[in-house]
Amino acid sequence: KKRNPGQDEFVQAVHEVSRDIFDWIQDKREYHEAEILRRIAEPDRIVSFRVCWEDDDHNIRVERGWRVQNNNAIGPYKGGLRFHPSVTESVLKFLAFEQTFKNSLTGLPMGGGKGGANFNPKGKSDAEVMRFCQSFMTELYRHIGPDVDVPAGDIGVGSREIGYLFGQYKRITNRWEGVLTGKANEYGGSPMRVEATGYGAVHFLDHMLKRRDEEIEGKRIVISGSGNVALHAAEKAIALGGKVVSLSDSDGVIHVKDGIGAEQLEWIKQLKIEERGRISEVADKYDGVEFHEDGEPWGIDADIAMPCATQNEIGPDEAKTLVDNGVMAVVEGANMPTTNDAVEVLRDAKLLFAPGKAANAGGVAVSGLEMSQNAERVSWQREKLEDMLADLMEDIHGKCVEHGECSDGYIDYAKGANIAGFRKVADAMLAFGVM
Ligand code: NDP
Repeated sequence: KKRNPGQDEFVQAVHEVSRDIFDWIQDKREYHEAEILRRIAEPDRIVSFRVCWEDDDHNIRVERGWRVQNNNAIGPYKGGLRFHPSVTESVLKFLAFEQTFKNSLTGLPMGGGKGGANFNPKGKSDAEVMRFCQSFMTELYRHIGPDVDVPAGDIGVGSREIGYLFGQYKRITNRWEGVLTGKANEYGGSPMRVEATGYGAVHFLDHMLKRRDEEIEGKRIVISGSGNVALHAAEKAIALGGKVVSLSDSDGVIHVKDGIGAEQLEWIKQLKIEERGRISEVADKYDGVEFHEDGEPWGIDADIAMPCATQNEIGPDEAKTLVDNGVMAVVEGANMPTTNDAVEVLRDAKLLFAPGKAANAGGVAVSGLEMSQNAERVSWQREKLEDMLADLMEDIHGKCVEHGECSDGYIDYAKGANIAGFRKVADAMLAFGVM
């Protein structure tokens, strides 16, 4: 805390990892003596820059952009860009730190980074978003490259923004190269990237349940958020026979007692992704859908909870509510949506808890495969990528079980993910000596 004043999110993330690593590292003198944990918790570098752009009324706006390059021990820095008014250096440092372990867990050669700006794309015209993205890339381009740092999308950065960013990079450098992932299929994007995070989280859930001789079919699932991750998690869960009973956005939550139907979800995807509408509009269109302004999904009767919106959505009170309602599993689609205190409540109650760095790693894994396709100048079939995603998620689940199995048989997935993710990065750092 003293070292990072005012950076609560970052301190929270480092604390969460250290707690799990600390005991395990005790008898491993080589990591201890090399101060590996302390070194990973200090980003390699942080670039902060001014982003000026002109709005449609000809006012000059000044925002702040960042790229946090946390660690490139096992591959080029890799991690998304977030455009949201809540973005601060602390938030990006926490995300870049987490990303380092997540990318390691995928088994692919990717280091950890994250970036973004405090720009709010909501309510901005297409032309305004384009001018902002161009201005942002005019500085960022000098810090990235296919073998250096490969950013992607995150909250507020979807395929429209990636298109404007990529276009500006190409214009400045005169190079067509895989410098960003999450591109559209027409210009080097990978099939399955859009679906990968949400689908992957449901694959992870499926493996957790199967270990307990349970299955997704018939389970009631509460999901928060209605963005890329939430909607694709819902899609996969419904395809496997799950009953998705909620979605939300920053206005409130919809509750659908009988479960959202596949056709209804298609309409919601069009509304939220294409038309940038509000989740409340679903209740205007369909009977049997309740909208609760400012509400949260965690009090709704369910078997499984999937927080897929943003960080710190589930605190200890919400976690107790989930436990009291008999929820059996919490799977993080978002990054750090559960606070450390809340994770303790879930662990004490022996709930299955899948941390984001494992459960939502499918997105970055397919991004890694997008990098491979770009480097080889090929495009793989969707079916191949779908199979590769399924295999990667099974592998990540296996690593969490291997390192997270407790003496009473309970799987501490958070601990397993932290140890497995840390180990690979730490070994690479040891091999490089002190730097
Ligand atoms: P989107 O921008 O597509 O969607 C975010 C959703 O969360 C929207 O429904 C948004 O509502 C809601 N939301 C955002 N901030 C808040 C808030 N402060 N309070 C309430 N609701 C909020 O983002 P993604 O779906 O891509 O990302 C969601 C989470 O998943 C993030 O934590 C991200 O880091 C993580 N993630 C994403 C990956 C990806 O591949 N996209 C990969 C791995 C992790 P509204 O429309 O009102 O803003």
